[in-house]
Amino acid sequence: MLLKNRLFTPGPTPLLPSAQTAMAAFSLHHRTADFRALYTRVLSDMKDFIGTKNDVLVLSSSGTGVMEGSVSNLTSPGDKVLVLTAGKFGERWTGLTKAFGCVPEVISRPYGETFVLDEIKQKLTPDVKVVYVQATESSTGARHDVQGIAKLVRAQGDDTLLVVDAITGLGTTHFDVDGWGIDVIIGGSQKALMIPPGLAYCAVSERAWQRMEAAKSPRYYFDFRKERKAAAKGESAYTPATSLFAALGAALDFVRQMGNGDLAAGRKALVDNAELAAEMTRAGAKALGLKLFAGASPSAALTAIDAPAGLDSGVIVKAFRDSFSAVVANGQGDMKGKLFRIAHIGYYDYLDTVGILAALEHVLTAATGKPVAYGSAVKAAQEVYARSLAQPVGAR
Ligand SMILES: *Cc1c(COP(=O)(O)O)cnc(C)c1O
Repeated sequence: MLLKNRLFTPGPTPLLPSAQTAMAAFSLHHRTADFRALYTRVLSDMKDFIGTKNDVLVLSSSGTGVMEGSVSNLTSPGDKVLVLTAGKFGERWTGLTKAFGCVPEVISRPYGETFVLDEIKQKLTPDVKVVYVQATESSTGARHDVQGIAKLVRAQGDDTLLVVDAITGLGTTHFDVDGWGIDVIIGGSQKALMIPPGLAYCAVSERAWQRMEAAKSPRYYFDFRKERKAAAKGESAYTPATSLFAALGAALDFVRQMGNGDLAAGRKALVDNAELAAEMTRAGAKALGLKLFAGASPSAALTAIDAPAGLDSGVIVKAFRDSFSAVVANGQGDMKGKLFRIAHIGYYDYLDTVGILAALEHVLTAATGKPVAYGSAVKAAQEVYARSLAQPVGAR
């Protein structure tokens, strides 16, 4: 059969056609009135996409650049910080905070699990300057309880900041950024925003802006205060990835259309879409007798599925690619060979979900030599979808 290349990976994700067209047609210089108008509109729309009144910065880098900025702008060498880690992205916080001379206290949970709030409460002493966590741990598919963690951090008062890597969380998970008191929430262009890699963004609270006045870690390109000043004039401090801003403008228009003209409603619809696709995928995987890697607290961003006993998940990943040109992700690090990951982020719909589950039935049959009951994964997913018509995900 003809093969269409499709991404089911947790970043980069499938591209929005109108954003691709906007990029291709774009040629404005960044120090012009027209570009300043686009830049200003995009930053304002990004507040609605994130769901915050806080100032938003968009930098030209991959997501890790703004993760690094969230360490360098908020800490001084020797600061005690609390890192919550349960996967490869959590481990990135440990590496980043050490690189800037912080002293991280690390709460580590096994891959596939999430945190115990009581343990966090015990480690949250008043000398902790910043807490670093992921909203969704893309290496394991786990969802962390950001609201619960925020509650504990805010009970500490204003001296402890909360930084959330929501790079796969934004657009797949509901957050009340200002209500919960998240000080920095971070996202990336190649995830739910449906455009290529190259932009990273964050919303920064007043508490965090004040911390920057005292923080002594070295910083230059990722100097948030410099970017904020430039942004107030409709500019970036350095040359922004101009065509990606055109793409981002188109993507935000698309989300607004999803909300019938209301961007916040569109964001909600995008999240509900991911939740439904994830629920369908979990039901499909279980119907095939497969085990979820992060079954106790699964995210809507992606579903990580254990390879059947004795089978390397690389065989499954390769079969998806060879037979259907579908790109699913293998495990990272120690998880390589043990699991495969199907993402539901951004421009991803019902037909993608049903299609990948139908393909999974064939892939499993070929990889294990044991025929599955064809239609069993699809049937389970169909039933989830049918139930969602009676009771929409967003109304539960
Ligand atoms: C994709 C991702 C990142 C960012 O990675 P980059 O390659 O730097 O864009 C960070 N954290 C999580 C949870 C992610 O999914």
